[in-house]
Amino acid sequence: LLQLTRKLIEIRTVLLSVDQSDALKLPSIVVIGSQSSGKSSVLEAIVGQEFLPKGDNMVTRRPIELTLIHTPVKKGSNQPSEYGVFPDMPHLGKVTNFSTVQKTLTDLNLSVPAEVCVSDQPIQLHIHSPHVPDLTLIDLPGYVQISSLDQPETLKESISNLCDKYIREPNIILAVCAADVDLANSPALRASRRVDPLGTRTIGVVTKMDLVSPQAGAQIIRGDKYPLHLGYVGVVCKAPKSGGMFKSLRSGGDDRVTTAVLKREEEFFGGENGRYFNQRGRDGDKLMTGTDTLRRRLMDVLETSMAGSLHGITNAVQLELEEASYQFKVQYNDRRTTPEAYVAETLDALKARFKEYTSQFTKPAVRAKLTSMLDDKMMDILEQLYWNDELRAGELSKLADDRKIPSGEDLDPYWRYKLDTASSLLTKSGVGRDSTGLVADGLRGLIDSIATGEPFTFHSSVSERIVDFSHAILRERVGLTADQVENCIKPYKYEVEMDGREWELGRERADQKFTDEIVMCDSKLAEIRGRVGGSRRLNGLIKHVAELEKFQQERRRRAAAALQTSDGSGSDDKDAAVNDADAPVLDAYKYSPAQVIDGHNALLLTNRLGLLKLRQQAIRSRRCRSGPDQAAFCPETFLAVVAEKLAYTSTMFINIELLEQFFYQFPREIDSRILYDLDRDEIKKFALENPRVRTHLELQDRKDKLEQVLRSLQSLVNLQADSPRHGADG
Ligand code: GDP
Repeated sequence: LLQLTRKLIEIRTVLLSVDQSDALKLPSIVVIGSQSSGKSSVLEAIVGQEFLPKGDNMVTRRPIELTLIHTPVKKGSNQPSEYGVFPDMPHLGKVTNFSTVQKTLTDLNLSVPAEVCVSDQPIQLHIHSPHVPDLTLIDLPGYVQISSLDQPETLKESISNLCDKYIREPNIILAVCAADVDLANSPALRASRRVDPLGTRTIGVVTKMDLVSPQAGAQIIRGDKYPLHLGYVGVVCKAPKSGGMFKSLRSGGDDRVTTAVLKREEEFFGGENGRYFNQRGRDGDKLMTGTDTLRRRLMDVLETSMAGSLHGITNAVQLELEEASYQFKVQYNDRRTTPEAYVAETLDALKARFKEYTSQFTKPAVRAKLTSMLDDKMMDILEQLYWNDELRAGELSKLADDRKIPSGEDLDPYWRYKLDTASSLLTKSGVGRDSTGLVADGLRGLIDSIATGEPFTFHSSVSERIVDFSHAILRERVGLTADQVENCIKPYKYEVEMDGREWELGRERADQKFTDEIVMCDSKLAEIRGRVGGSRRLNGLIKHVAELEKFQQERRRRAAAALQTSDGSGSDDKDAAVNDADAPVLDAYKYSPAQVIDGHNALLLTNRLGLLKLRQQAIRSRRCRSGPDQAAFCPETFLAVVAEKLAYTSTMFINIELLEQFFYQFPREIDSRILYDLDRDEIKKFALENPRVRTHLELQDRKDKLEQVLRSLQSLVNLQADSPRHGADG
């Protein structure tokens, strides 16, 4: 036996996974009929299970492509031998409970909204069973006779179009008509006649034979009125009354739908009625009755049709394969890929990029970052402690300028005390936390940028995983590292020793810091000057704003004073209030509000510049240059040296406790949490997320499957040529 149908059904399944249109070139049996003609009952009788959606609210809205696979019971195996599989929903696995199949089909059908009613997206269902023949059947929505109000106008037409798509060659049409309805009114027969006028690929199934007299029934299936080359089969497959009986049928092993139907049909077509049905038809063959006959007839017809399609489909597949091979060569130069390879490649690239970026975290680089952070802190502390107080600032700058340099002991203890305060403000400002935080933020930024860059834009879930675990490593290390750093800088909180060389280096750095700040202020000021329109206008504006501020200050002062006196003596507010006419608002319209804001900023910048220059001058003084003894007058230099020492120590410990740990752990975590953690499906999913890889894999898969199919087809062609039956036919 060639088992042609079975092999071609396998091929059809493979082709379906590649492309729907190729698969349709292999014949299948398409079941059409009007609603309630008994279509479902016929299909269920063939399958031997109740599995189709039931209900009168248009329950078949999508084609159901049913592949029946005859699966002999394996002796001694406890594997289920009868089950359904939804190839498009692999997670469901083997569904052994047919009410679950029914429920799933119902849900899939109802997922088509009622307004749309029909969809041509087919549902694939494979049924494996020892009781089914190898067949492919496509169940289509029933033709509607009378449209009801809640159905769209176009419904009739949509169904008819959908059916037309499926009843094309080479498919076999199973036209289901009820015996109690005049065949002339059968939409199924009408549709079939349009595409198959000679009836060479149409089988008529006349259902509900029990509803007409045996004479009339026999008359119908003789097919005299509307002859079909493949003939009519009369059946009685009214499902036994629903309820308890059916449930017991399902669970009751061999006591299946088929058995019940066969028994009914045997009773109906045999016995008394036998004399009507045992006659011969027009062509001299016996009249065909019963589901069993129908089933055998379908197998025969499909096998013949498959044999006839073999050459055509082989050629078609060959052409498709040539095209796919050509594309594969042109687009990918025949380079094969796998999802595994892509995952490995992507993660390797990630590690390489990470390594490349880690060069930003060398010790000198980290030290420079920390020093600069501490320098900023130092500048702030000193500004508040020394320079915001105009009196002290003047005094300090005068002292720094002093020509004769007093020795260390002659110093006013006030300045010593002040310097100690400044130093401890810096060393006790939470250096451990801040410096560790700064480096950790840098690492976080680095990871975030590579985990969200190409190609991770396609892989959001893996990208999230990378970000999550690296943040977790950081979180774990940060507290520990901060404590370590804090511990190691502890000595500096009490005493800082420095030599002349360190002093000079610190002084130069502080000097540079002032230069940088001055340049920054200058450029901001220049920007404003440009906006305002030159120095003269800017000076005018600054003067205006300064006056305005003075006036406002005065007003606030007087208001406060008035409040005090009114509390005490209840004097008149009017006297105390500043007369608004005094306000320098005369030229108020000269400047727009935006310019006034610019003026404010310019005023702040000029004041700041003045102060910065004063401080820089102090730092360049002879006194400051003379060395660490004069620290009390050169707080910037002193703190710059402290900052440098803090940065140096912090860097050492951050490097060991945070950076080295992270650089060691990160690539390993990528392996353990991603590479080794993804299962086959996740790896595949990951690869398909990238459109470039997806097209590559899909084309490769298509080519492989077509090759496989072509090999099978060619061996079938060879077998067919050798087989005496087909060989003799030529
Ligand atoms: P579909 O809408 O074409 O799928 O039709 P169904 O298979 O759901 O059948 C419609 C109705 O006809 C149901 O109530 C069935 O019980 C009934 N029916 C189906 N086949 C037969 C039959 O052979 N004899 C009788 N008397 N009723 C049947």
